[in-house]
Amino acid sequence: PLLQERGLIAGDGIGREVVPAGRRALEALPASVGLKFDFVNLDAGFETFERTGAALPNVTLETLKTECDGALFGAVGSPTHAVKGYSSPIVALRKKLSLYANVRPVKTVRSNPRRIDMVIVRENTEDLYVKEERTFDAEDGSGKVAEAIKRITERASFRIASMAGEIAVRRHKVRQASGAGSAREPTVTITHKSNVLSQTDGLFRTTANVALANYPVTVEEQIVDSMVYKLFRQPETYDVIVAPNLYGDLLSDGAAALVGSLGLVPSANVGDSFVMGEPCHGSAPDIMGQNIANPVATLRSTALMLEFMNEEEAAAKLYTAIDANLEEGKILSPDLGGKAKTDEVVEDILKRL
Ligand code: NAD
Ligand code: MN
Repeated sequence: PLLQERGLIAGDGIGREVVPAGRRALEALPASVGLKFDFVNLDAGFETFERTGAALPNVTLETLKTECDGALFGAVGSPTHAVKGYSSPIVALRKKLSLYANVRPVKTVRSNPRRIDMVIVRENTEDLYVKEERTFDAEDGSGKVAEAIKRITERASFRIASMAGEIAVRRHKVRQASGAGSAREPTVTITHKSNVLSQTDGLFRTTANVALANYPVTVEEQIVDSMVYKLFRQPETYDVIVAPNLYGDLLSDGAAALVGSLGLVPSANVGDSFVMGEPCHGSAPDIMGQNIANPVATLRSTALMLEFMNEEEAAAKLYTAIDANLEEGKILSPDLGGKAKTDEVVEDILKRL
């Protein structure tokens, strides 16, 4: 069997309770899938910063770069007040590991009357998040002015739209194989605001269209403000959505609200040769240490990581076990109205593997 090294970055708060669940799931995969993993625990986050002075220690980054081909990231907390020298390690990790796509599936289980099953593919490296800001005094003496660069490149737009195309094709294959919803055409919705930002979003829009012409998918466009409206009114209609960084950030957090709990929604940070699974939630200080955090977001992130390593059979097994637990609805964590502890939810899901 193939031996793969995985970095485990638990971080702060409930990150330390849910990342071990992801590891257990990888260890519990049936031998038939032929995967075997080695794990290395790595530090990052606010507690690490307070202890060592670095939120993302060099050894964490170097180990990921030289020894690992994937990772699971829990969550990191950040102080409510600005602390000198602290900045979020997740943003640094995305940049340093060239994880240029943030992929976020949002899906309800089959018994839910609302059949939501979409993936938001967010560009992860540019747009306003290049953080090139400046503040200066207005020439007319009316006070301060602050401005920021919104940078869109053809290269990053092409790359992210191509990934959206690949994902739409893959999802369509899975739907057809399972016989579920095979009537649905693979569709990618390009989101932008090029009616106002004709150059930046205009470049994103044009380039995304060029990239998607290479895929057997239906391409639609939606201006981002009406996208928000439609996303909340008719979430069932979306398949794959591709967006520049800022819109993708907002849409993906908003879409997570459609399925009931932050504790359900996974994500993956994807580059050409590395993938890092990461639940969408934060460190949840209000429930940490009580063994009641919902592990599903992290388990789904683990499956998503497998999917992007082209271990689709293993990913499908894990998704199926998670869905079976949710469908049955007996062993659920408190955020879903249940009484089960984190460990009990994990046990129930692993049993189904
Ligand atoms: P949060 O996601 O930590 O929590 C929001 C609410 O959802 C809380 O009531 C929490 O108890 C609940 N919740 C979240 N995950 C849950 C789970 N798995 N099971 C059950 N309930 C869950 O967001 P927040 O409270 O705004 O932020 C807390 C800290 O996390 C902050 O320091 C913030 O900066 C950080 N944060 C980190 C990330 C990340 O690491 N990627 C993302 C968001 C927030
Ligand atoms: Mn966000």
